[in-house]
Amino acid sequence: MASKNTDIFIVDGGLSTELIRLGFPVDLTDKDPLWTSTYLLKNHNALRKAHLSFLEHGADVILTGTYQASLELFEKAAGIGAEEFSKLIQMACDIARQAVEEFWEKQSQPGRRKPLIAGSVGPYGACLLDFSEYHGNYVDNMTMEELKQWHRPRIQALVDGKVDLLAIETIPSIVEAEALLSVLQEFPSMKAWLTFYCKDKSHIGHGESFAEAVGKVSACSQIVGVGTNCIAAENVTALLQGASTSRNGKPFVVYPNAPGEQWIDDSVCGKTAADEFDDLIPAWIEAGVKYIGGCCGTSALDIKHIATLLTDR
Ligand SMILES: [Zn+2]
Repeated sequence: MASKNTDIFIVDGGLSTELIRLGFPVDLTDKDPLWTSTYLLKNHNALRKAHLSFLEHGADVILTGTYQASLELFEKAAGIGAEEFSKLIQMACDIARQAVEEFWEKQSQPGRRKPLIAGSVGPYGACLLDFSEYHGNYVDNMTMEELKQWHRPRIQALVDGKVDLLAIETIPSIVEAEALLSVLQEFPSMKAWLTFYCKDKSHIGHGESFAEAVGKVSACSQIVGVGTNCIAAENVTALLQGASTSRNGKPFVVYPNAPGEQWIDDSVCGKTAADEFDDLIPAWIEAGVKYIGGCCGTSALDIKHIATLLTDR
């Protein structure tokens, strides 16, 4: 059996979940529209600690705290212009890099690979603060150019911030994925994975087939992985199996949600959300998963659970 150190990359978990677990509150309502990105303005140390915690618990890839960070939202919520926005996104990359260097200097776990930094790119819908990212219907009223224009400043800043790759995530529609790939191609040396939000066992949020979406994305040469995140773990196996012949040889990326937010507390007493993934993970790997982690409701304890599971198998 392969070990995690040769073929599987452990991705981190929910940044807000880990921040909360470490005692840094995150308001996931429209009262603070910046969510975790608010820490880019007020407490870099909190972000560094959350990244470090994921690394210490086994993550091979950490995602920058930029999911919710769009120029439009920062302008609206904090009066921040384009130049300052770019600096903040690059700061998010620097904070992640500090955590990686700090971890790497101290770490003594045999066989660990130096962790990668993935620049998180959330969907346009996240800035609407009405759960639009889960159906993506806004694309029906936007042009390709508008989508590209909205996505470009953050991607440009993440490239300038020298991330190892982009984690384009929770994308609900093929149209938005195509806009993102088009922007990605403006930066030919940058690699990316792209994961879709899926509403059931075979369709992405906007209704297109997951297999078709995987086929379109995986055809792009800069794409190093394609898959799904922010979904129910029980739907993953069927989704991957349904798209097995459309992935153009590219590996799958999977990071599902915890079954419920109550797991944040339960994890303190030894049980983790990732216990629920135990019986599912072998099938995901069988289906071609290379990058595996957690999304909403998963903390560093869940990542440790997944890492241990994969090391021991
Ligand atoms: Zn999520």
